[in-house]
Amino acid sequence: MADARTQFLLTEDRIPTHWVNIAPDLPGEPLPPLHPGTHEPAGPDDLTPIFPIALIEQEMSPHPDVEIPEEVREAYKLWRPTPLHRARNLEKALGTPAHIYYKYEGVSPAGSHKPNSAIPQAYENAKAGVKKLVTETGAGQWGSSLAFASSLFGLECEVFMVGSSYDQKPYRRSMMQTWGATVHRSPSPLTEAGRAQAANETGSLGIAISEAVEIAAQSDDANYALGSVLSHVCLHQTVIGQETIAQMEMAGEEPDVVIGCVGGGSNFAGLAFPWLRRNLREGKSVRFVGAEPAACPTLTKGVYAYDFGDTVGLTPLMPMYTLGHDFVPPPVHAGGLRYHGDSPLLCAIVKAGLIGAKAVRQNPTFEAAIQFSRTEGIIPAPESAHAIRVAIDEALEAKEAGEERVILFGLSGHGHFDLAAYDAYLAGTLEDPEFDEAGAHAAIEKLPEGLPAIA
Ligand SMILES: *Cc1c(COP(=O)(O)O)cnc(C)c1O
Repeated sequence: MADARTQFLLTEDRIPTHWVNIAPDLPGEPLPPLHPGTHEPAGPDDLTPIFPIALIEQEMSPHPDVEIPEEVREAYKLWRPTPLHRARNLEKALGTPAHIYYKYEGVSPAGSHKPNSAIPQAYENAKAGVKKLVTETGAGQWGSSLAFASSLFGLECEVFMVGSSYDQKPYRRSMMQTWGATVHRSPSPLTEAGRAQAANETGSLGIAISEAVEIAAQSDDANYALGSVLSHVCLHQTVIGQETIAQMEMAGEEPDVVIGCVGGGSNFAGLAFPWLRRNLREGKSVRFVGAEPAACPTLTKGVYAYDFGDTVGLTPLMPMYTLGHDFVPPPVHAGGLRYHGDSPLLCAIVKAGLIGAKAVRQNPTFEAAIQFSRTEGIIPAPESAHAIRVAIDEALEAKEAGEERVILFGLSGHGHFDLAAYDAYLAGTLEDPEFDEAGAHAAIEKLPEGLPAIA
């Protein structure tokens, strides 16, 4: 067993020097985002009120490799490179001939992959002379990541936290405050949008976004920051996949399948895109599966159409798989996966048949999380547990087929602030909401009209 390694570790000098921009390697021209009012293609000018130009350039970059600023690589050194583990205990428990690997992003200060993008976003805003970043947070992962990144670059940070999470996850709020951020319970009395929604006590991500954008748009020295969906966020996350390629080389194996959970798509894109580029350039045939909740099955049950990114309809229209911008997903515990759409870049790749997707239910997902915790030790975030469910299913299929399949999945974060959900599962009271087919149908019927057909 001397050579039975379980961890594949890289030194700091192996932090990638560039991010991988997959867009130029894709077949065909990308569909542009459209201005919400005019329905004309949205350009950089439409974004400058809330984003610094450097991030807008990254969003639209034609270059396949985008250099990572030295200051960002320095900040990444606080926790990167992250470890790749071989899940030997889990393999044994499953009795599978499959080899299971996972890339663990929960070692970041905030406990997930999100600081990979929070750091460059805070850096570019600080460099552009912005004084304050405003954002929303649902479960608290993004808010705490941006609070941490803002503290490193001397920015103020203001977070609108969805009311129900604010009440249920006081320690996520404490983390943000520890890193110096100001946290408001949303809906708040501080904005037009919040005051208009005061009756909606528990709040929603849509309302919190509207509050944050309102503050950022009104202020000369404040900008808005988004933790997923946009192409520059997916770009930043590609440090994950690039490190993983080097680490799988250390392990002397090549994955047959790469799996990640999908909320807005950024951690999965970050893991998958560097591998996908090898497929496209070198004729490799790694398979990809995005794991999403059965209660909010955007990629597997959504329609491919132009839709708004937020509930209210303020953002540019984006081409994506969507359940309709006013579809309200049931309150599953993987808050980070409760989004009506997905990254337009990831959606275009799914549409082209280069990446697949699978929806999994909440109880089997927690069953997988418990099995993982009791073998590998790490208590996963409920979001990440969706990827574990799919990985375990792949390993059981491989067992059935007697195949030595190599499975790689992204473990996007730990679940230390999600123990209420574990409590519910262990008490046998965790609900398993059905996908609201009728609700999604109604929301899809209300998609904006008069837009180019893209199906
Ligand atoms: C936010 C979050 C997700 C979902 O976001 P993506 O942009 O799809 O990656 C997944 N896992 C964790 C731990 C998160 O915090």
